[in-house]
Amino acid sequence: MNILLISAEVTPFAKAGGLADVTAALPAEWKRMGHNPIIVMPKYGFIDEKMWNMEPTFLTLNVPMGYETEFAHLWHGTLPGSEVPIYFIEFNEYFARDGIYGDPNEFFDNDRRFIFLSRAAFEAAKALDFTPDIIHAHDFHTAFAMAFLKTHYRYDMRFARTAGVYTIHNLAYQGKFNPFRAMEFSGIGHDNFYKGSWFEHNGTANAMKIGIMFADKITTVSPNYSREIRTPYYGEGLCDELNYRGPDLIGILNGVQYDKWNPAIDDAIAVKYTPNSIEDKMKNKIDFLKGYGLNDNDGLDIPLIGIVARLTEQKGFDLIESVLERHISEGDFRFALLGSGERRYVDYFNYLKSKYPATALINIGYDETIAHKIIAGCDYLLVPSRFEPCGLTQMYALKYATIPIVRQTGGLADTVNEYSKVSGTGTGFVFLHYDPDDFAFALRRALSIYTSEPHWSTIRQNAMAMDYSSERSALQYINVFEWAMEKVR
Ligand code: ADP
Repeated sequence: MNILLISAEVTPFAKAGGLADVTAALPAEWKRMGHNPIIVMPKYGFIDEKMWNMEPTFLTLNVPMGYETEFAHLWHGTLPGSEVPIYFIEFNEYFARDGIYGDPNEFFDNDRRFIFLSRAAFEAAKALDFTPDIIHAHDFHTAFAMAFLKTHYRYDMRFARTAGVYTIHNLAYQGKFNPFRAMEFSGIGHDNFYKGSWFEHNGTANAMKIGIMFADKITTVSPNYSREIRTPYYGEGLCDELNYRGPDLIGILNGVQYDKWNPAIDDAIAVKYTPNSIEDKMKNKIDFLKGYGLNDNDGLDIPLIGIVARLTEQKGFDLIESVLERHISEGDFRFALLGSGERRYVDYFNYLKSKYPATALINIGYDETIAHKIIAGCDYLLVPSRFEPCGLTQMYALKYATIPIVRQTGGLADTVNEYSKVSGTGTGFVFLHYDPDDFAFALRRALSIYTSEPHWSTIRQNAMAMDYSSERSALQYINVFEWAMEKVR
């Protein structure tokens, strides 16, 4: 199967969140399975072309943008750790900037940048003589590709039998564009923008809606989230559209790349460990604490609870704020954070750090190595999200025997089950209501089994035994692709 994947983010070239991990993991698996994927993404200014052995193809793309044509250069590289070709669209006016989406706020021309990317991907396929069976677009950034497939390229023989699959990684970010700009840049024209059209939502040209309406099949990143978003509470204003497309909407759980996230082979952590040498996990905790000037006498028996996340409201930081200080001031546990994002949370965690330097171990910033060290070194991982399309860190945590404490929402509900002291089943602690009492109660339940046998050993073995591999996930996408291709054959 020829698969053209278009994304604004792909690890390790450009990453803001889980999207990048998934758009790297899937093609690598498809290639291993014998398929023929290629990736198209922007050539951002911050990507180090020498480090990744990128080379110009000397192909020039003519990209129609409304009444004009813009010219882009195409670069070639290989997705590290795989044989997947990856093509970078070079158009410096749009992409040679420091951020992916903004620095730190949204760039004012994100409509134009991403409509351009979505269109350029088709022109890249033409220039490369690549005839895709599937065009796979991700999130609002590349959603316009779904509309282009059914409009501009509908009668192009190269794409006549190409099916469009659109994956929603996060419905909260929709790309609500000014219709006067978006309809022009897309070349689809203002005539197609009217109340109730597939392009219109509450007066905006809503890229997310466009992806949903034009795709042959729609996927989301967990089965539970695919059901949730069809309700008004989680639907972010698009639940009617999602229900309309309900028969074509399916949830596929994101997978973990266990060649990167596995304590048995992880070079980023101090001491590797397996289910048979789980006692070595403690050495990672010691290593992590030493980084903060703490030594063996400083109460290693105090639980260490970590979090690795973007500092946004979605991730449940309001809940954390409402209970955290009480616990760390009393020494119930130590708290390790790695994150970057909203100023108000940065300020809050910096305040905790200055007040409780020995119990609030705060890292503001983005750092892959520290992420691995926290996941390996902590006893528990917190993911109390308000909503969570899938969530990757709780799946990493399970593999590292770091017990997740999660809210029962989205993919968190699909991947973590409450531990039962009676049956010895379950892998973590789960609470339903987004309120401080429910959250605090889950924390208490979790802490109650800390080093209390046989529960502590049982839950950690249960956690490590879970398998959420990207291989399984990639196979499910192939099934959806075949299903989508039936629509265009
Ligand atoms: P989201 O996509 O909403 O950000 P996910 O849990 O699906 O949430 O994916 C987040 C990814 O980004 C994970 O791979 C996580 O380890 C990583 N990550 C988040 N914040 C940081 C950070 N500050 N430093 C390093 N990695 C981070």
